[in-house]
Amino acid sequence: MRRKQPSAQELIDGILAKDKVALSRAITLVESTNPEHLEKANTIIQACLPHANKSIRIGITGVPGVGKSTFIEAFGKHITSLGRKVAVLAVDPSSTISHGSILGDKTRMEELVKDENAFIRPSASGETLGGVARKTRETIILCEACGFDTIIIETVGVGQSETAVHSMVDFFLLLKISGAGDELQGIKRGIMEMADAIVINKADGDNIAKAKLAKTEFNRALHLFPAKQSGWIPTAATCSSYTKEGIDTVWKTISDYFELVKTNHYFEEKRQNQNQFWMMETINEQLKSNFYNHPEIIKLLEENKKAVQNDEISPFAAAINLLGKYFKS
Ligand code: GDP
Repeated sequence: MRRKQPSAQELIDGILAKDKVALSRAITLVESTNPEHLEKANTIIQACLPHANKSIRIGITGVPGVGKSTFIEAFGKHITSLGRKVAVLAVDPSSTISHGSILGDKTRMEELVKDENAFIRPSASGETLGGVARKTRETIILCEACGFDTIIIETVGVGQSETAVHSMVDFFLLLKISGAGDELQGIKRGIMEMADAIVINKADGDNIAKAKLAKTEFNRALHLFPAKQSGWIPTAATCSSYTKEGIDTVWKTISDYFELVKTNHYFEEKRQNQNQFWMMETINEQLKSNFYNHPEIIKLLEENKKAVQNDEISPFAAAINLLGKYFKS
C-alpha cells in the first residue's frame, strides 16, 4: 500500500518546526511537473514567505575541478561551528546533458551532509536554466522558513548559469586555482565584474607560492574595474580546502560585506531589484512559452514562415499579425 502523502498544511507545519524531512518533501513538490503538485507547492511557498528573507545568500561559481564541493564542505563546516545553519543548493543546467546532478552531490560533501545544521540538495535535473532558476528561488524561500540562515548556491562556470545565480544571491564568490602565471587568460570579464571576492583554492603544498602570485595578479586586475554600486571593494584571497588555511578569512570577508551593505541599505535595495527582475523574467518566459505552445499559433507560425520566406509578407508585418491574433484569442 502506498503511504499517504502529507498535506500542504502538514508540510508547512513541519518546515516551520525546522524538520528537514518536511523541507525535502516540499522541495520535491516544487520540482515536480505534476500540476497538482504545483498547486500544493504554491500553497506551501505562500505560507513560508512571511518567514523567509532572513538569511544571507552566497553564490559560488568556478569551473569543474576547481574544488567547489571541497571548499563548500570546509566553509560550511566552519560556519556551522560558529552556530550558523547552512543550506547548499545547486544550479546546474548542464545536468540535462549528464542526466543527473553533478553539483551539490551529497557523496562529495561527506562531513557536511552529516552535520545536523546543514542541508544539501542537488539541483533539479533535466530542466531549462529558467526552470531551474525558478525552482531554486522557491527552494531558497522554503529553506529560509525552515531556519537556515545561510544559503549557498553552487553553480558550475558554464553558460548563463552564473548570471542567473548572481541575480538570486547577495554575495558572489568566484573560486579559482592558480595556473601557470596566466591567471587572467580565459576568464570572462563579465564574471570578474560580478565577483564580490575571488578565492584561489588549493593554496597548499607546492602550490602556495603560485597561489600567492595569482592573488596579487587578481587584486591588480580587480582594481581596474569600476566601483561597485554596493560600495564594496572586491578582493582576492587564497585558501586551502584541505588544510583549511584561509577559510576563516573568507568568512571574515563575507561578514564584512554584509556589515557594509546592511549599514548602507544596499542589501534591501538589491533584493528588491532581484524580486522585480525575477517577476519580469517569469512573465517573459510564460508569455513566450504560452505563445509558442498555442495550437493556432503553431499552425499560423508555419504558414507565416513560408510566406516570409517567399517574400509574400514582411517579417515585421507577419510578427505583428501573429501577436495580434494571439492577444485577441
Ligand atoms: P568541483 O568540481 O569544483 O566541485 O571540485 P571538487 O571539490 O570535486 O575538487 C576537485 C579535485 O580537487 C578533487 O580531487 C579534490 O580533492 C581536489 N581539491 C579540492 N580542494 C583542494 C585543496 O584545497 N587542495 C588540494 N590540494 N586539492 C583540492
